[in-house]
Order: sequence, then structure tokens, then C-alpha cells
Amino acid sequence: MTEYSNTDNNEIKKSLNFIEQEIEKDLAQGKNGSRIQTRFPPEPNGYLHIGHAKAFCLDFGVAEEYGGVCNLRFDDTNPVKEDTEYVESIMEDIQWLGYHWANVYYASDYFQQLWDFAVRLIKEGKAYVDEQTSEQIAEQKGTPTRPGVESPYRNRPVEESLELFEKMNSGEIPEGAMVLRAKIDMANPNMHFRDPIIYRIIHHPHHRTGTKWKVYPMYDFAHGQSDYFEGVTHSLCTLEFTVHRPLYDYFIDELKDGKDLDDNRPRQIEFNRLNLTYTVMSKRKLLALVKEGLVAGWDDPRMPTLCGLRRRGYTPEAIKNFISMIGYTKFEALNDISMLEAACREDLNKRATRVSAVLHPVKLVITNYPEGQVEMLEAIDNPEDENSKSHTIEFTRNLWIEREDFMENAPKKYFRMTPGQEVRLKNAYIVKCTGCVKDAEGNVTEVHCTYDPATRSGMPESARKVKGTLHWVSCDYAVQAEVRLYDRLFSVENPGEEKDKDFRELLNPDSLTVLDQCYVERYAAGFSPLDHLQFQRIGYFTPDKDSTEGHPVFNRTVSLKDTWSKINK
Ligand code: ATP
Ligand code: MG
Repeated sequence: MTEYSNTDNNEIKKSLNFIEQEIEKDLAQGKNGSRIQTRFPPEPNGYLHIGHAKAFCLDFGVAEEYGGVCNLRFDDTNPVKEDTEYVESIMEDIQWLGYHWANVYYASDYFQQLWDFAVRLIKEGKAYVDEQTSEQIAEQKGTPTRPGVESPYRNRPVEESLELFEKMNSGEIPEGAMVLRAKIDMANPNMHFRDPIIYRIIHHPHHRTGTKWKVYPMYDFAHGQSDYFEGVTHSLCTLEFTVHRPLYDYFIDELKDGKDLDDNRPRQIEFNRLNLTYTVMSKRKLLALVKEGLVAGWDDPRMPTLCGLRRRGYTPEAIKNFISMIGYTKFEALNDISMLEAACREDLNKRATRVSAVLHPVKLVITNYPEGQVEMLEAIDNPEDENSKSHTIEFTRNLWIEREDFMENAPKKYFRMTPGQEVRLKNAYIVKCTGCVKDAEGNVTEVHCTYDPATRSGMPESARKVKGTLHWVSCDYAVQAEVRLYDRLFSVENPGEEKDKDFRELLNPDSLTVLDQCYVERYAAGFSPLDHLQFQRIGYFTPDKDSTEGHPVFNRTVSLKDTWSKINK
């Protein structure tokens, strides 16, 4: 056994989060035979969002760190909302972040065991069938300071409950007419102990068990037991489950039936949720956005879903770095989305291929450049990578430049294209603006300039001092493209908090801008979704799956700089 000196030990502890510290304590005490087993338990009723990623990075992360296992368990106890589409997307998203589960389990695998356990509780006088409506049951709950009222069915004979429970499951009893409740304590200060409902009737077929079951266990009667059946040692979940923990332990004690009460049992530890500004994390709300067509699907690049972030061009590394930056604590917080964006910029800066794209084009004519001449210029793919390849760009007499890079009457500090001023064309020549051509309405239709053939990039004369460098693409070789610019999905910082307004009213009406007259250099049109590009001077982009032959579509992942906080704060 390794022995640490006190100081060594303290140093090691400092870098661990509170959950890792708890786990190390349990390991040191030899709990659960010094095994580590975790699980990620999504309900397959929607796509995973970045909040779920915070949870599963921890579940899979600690299992990896301590040589344990992490299983994926679908918490499929409500057939009405669940679907195999969600099961598949959940698996895909976890794998995208680079994690591997040891086994895939389903809470529905335990329906028989849970049923048997419920029957046992009825027989032991610890559960009963209640025939009251859910409203009546809710009314009798009491408040944390006022005890609840016992149900008139609470003390019905065991035989009667057993018979009714069977009938609940055979389909003879309509939904909502009866529930099974644990008989615990209607005066307990913890409301979850006031005879919680543990089974309800649902006649909707289940995506895995079909019509076999008509009763389904509630979360509190499925989760802890499933953890126990599987041999989970640390059941990590979010803070809202703290108040459920005593009930979690209660059912496990009952299940163990007096055997070995303190050891070999899962232990629930809670941590704070991930909440991001300008978006929502509620699956119910995200589902509503999708169903009502307010976004283009679960993978709409404005969604906080993992598939949305992926389509938008976020990398698994950026997401994981952000999650480790915000860390795990016992305090709820609202995390600034610009931190996620910063993590994304930092990662993409290292991996994105630099290309040129012009989003708001105006034609630039180099009047002294020979018509029909093409030069193949060298451009490095990624200057941040010392092993980077390079590619070639075609330079011709007519180029597209950004409209905002030309001004006829420019103020003093305008270092771009304006009559009489020299600028550098990136990777090419120094040019001097000579004027422009306008249409009848006074709109600039062409900008004119002359080039200095001795200033091609790499030539001695190219070292000449020029203040501005502009990007450009060749009119003859560039590919026309559609570019989608995304902004915050909601226009308020914490849409979940605005209780008096419907969240739909808080959507940012300008969250998507489509530019369909853009030009990208030929090389950029050859990339595929999930490739990462930097449109120089503009931002990070990725090809979208809507791209077709001859019509590339790009999503802006994130702008080059955080312009948003400046404008809005
Ligand atoms: P709901 O229960 O409302 O359908 P949910 O988001 O809680 O939605 P689950 O599928 O139950 O969805 O979540 C799976 C796991 O992910 C749970 O352990 C939950 O604690 C965790 N989780 C969900 N949302 C967040 C979040 N925003 N931050 C961290 N963990 C989260
Ligand atoms: Mg949940």
C-alpha cells in the first residue's frame, strides 16, 4: 500500500473535487470491496444537452480515474414520453464526447424485480393501493410544517391491496383511478416520506416491453433499486435530488431486508447543475421548441443540445474543457455562455484550417493586372500548427472583398481600402486603391486598385509597411456559398427565471441570419460537416449537413472575438 506523507496527501487532495475526495475516502475505508461503479441514467425522452454532458463527464470520468466501470442506464419508466430515437441519439452523443460504457442497462429490465419488491412491501404492510384522485392525494400531503392527512385506504387489508395491484396491472383499472403508495409516515418533515406514490397505471405501450406492463414504477421506486441491482457504488446526480436521498436509502434498506445495512450499497452524492445564460436546459422546453417548429430540430445549431453544438462546429474538447473549468460544487450557479464560447475559440484556434471567405461581397478590380492571368499563391492551413500543410489560392484580376473593407470618404484611422491608400491583400500583393464605380442609386458596384508586382508575399518589397491586411477570394475561382450566422437563442440572460412570461416570448428574433451571396475560396468548399475552418478575420465555421454539390452551407460556430459582451453590456 502506498503511504503518503501528510503534505503529499494534502497536495493531492487540493486538486480533487469534493466528489473525488468522497470517493477516495470510501476507497480508503474499503467500502463496496473497494470497487468503483457509476452509471449515467438518462430518461430516453429527449436529446442530451450540455447539462447532461456535465453529469456524464463526471460519471464516466471518475470511473476511468479510479479504474472502475460506468454503465449507461436508460431510465425508461414512463412509456408515454420515451422512444428508441432518443435511445440512439443518447448513445451517439456520449460516444462523440469520447466515453465508453461498460454495459447498457434499462430500468425496464428490472420491472419484474421491482414488481416483486412492491408485492413484498404490500405483504409486509408497507404499501397499499390508494383509490383517491391525484388531487386528493396532493391536498392531503400537508406542508413541511403541517403533517399530512392519512388516506382512508391506508389501512385496507393486505389481501385487498394485493388483488387491486394485480388488477391495476391487468388493464382492468383505468389510468389515474388507483396508485400504489408506500406506507411510511404522513407526518415526516421530509415530504417525500409522506406515503409516496410508487406505482401508477399507464396503458400506453412501452418502447421495449410493449403491453406487458400496465403499471410503472415512479422515479423514487426505480432509481435507487436499479443502482442497487447493478452494484453501483456511487450514484452521482444533481442537487435537486438531495431531498430524495433519505427515500433512496430507505428503499435500499428495505430491499436489503436487514442484510449488511451499511456496506455494499450505492451512495448518492449530489452536485450542482449546469445552467447556461441565454438558453434553457429543460427538456420539456427544448421539446416544445422542436415540436412547435421554433427551431429546425433537436440539432438546430442554436440549441444547447450536444447534437446542436456538434452541428454548429463545437468540438468535444471545447465542451469538456468548459465543463472542467466550471467544476463541480454544492452551489447552484448560472454559467456565462461566453465562457463556453471562449473555450471553443481556444480549441478551434489550435485545430481550424484557415481559409478565406467573403460574406458581404463587392468586386475589386486590379486594373493593371493582366486579364486572364492566374497565379497560384501559397497559404498555410494553420499557422498555430508547426507541422501544418499549406494549400493554394488562385489570384486573379477580379476579386471579391468585403463591402465594409472599402470606404470612399474614410476617416483618418481607416486602414482599409480607400482612394489613395495602400493595403496588403493577404498572401498576395500590396495594392493601392484608385477609386470606385457606382450605380444610379450611388451604391458602390466595383472598387478599383492597382497592384505593385514587386510586393508579392515573400518578396523583399513585401516587407514595406502597410497598415491594413484584407482577405479576398477570386471572382473566377471562388464558390458561392450560404453562410448561417447564429446568435443567442434567447434575448434574456436567464429565460428560465422569467416566471411571468412564456419562454417562447423570450426567444431572440435575430438568432439566425442567413447570408446566401457569400463566396468562399475553392479549397474551403471541399470540406465536410465536423471539419473546422477559420474564415480569416471573421470567425470559426463548419460545413453544414444541408450542403449540396455546388451549394456549400456553413455554420458560424463562434466569432473570432467576443463582440457580444461589448455590445450588450
Ligand atoms: P427530466 O427529468 O426533466 O426529463 P433531466 O434533464 O433531468 O430531465 P434526465 O434524463 O433525467 O433528464 O437526466 C439524466 C441525468 O443528467 C440526471 O442524473 C440529471 O441529474 C443530469 N442532468 C440533467 N440536467 C442537468 C444539468 N443541467 N446539469 C447537470 N446535470 C444534469
Ligand atoms: Mg431527470
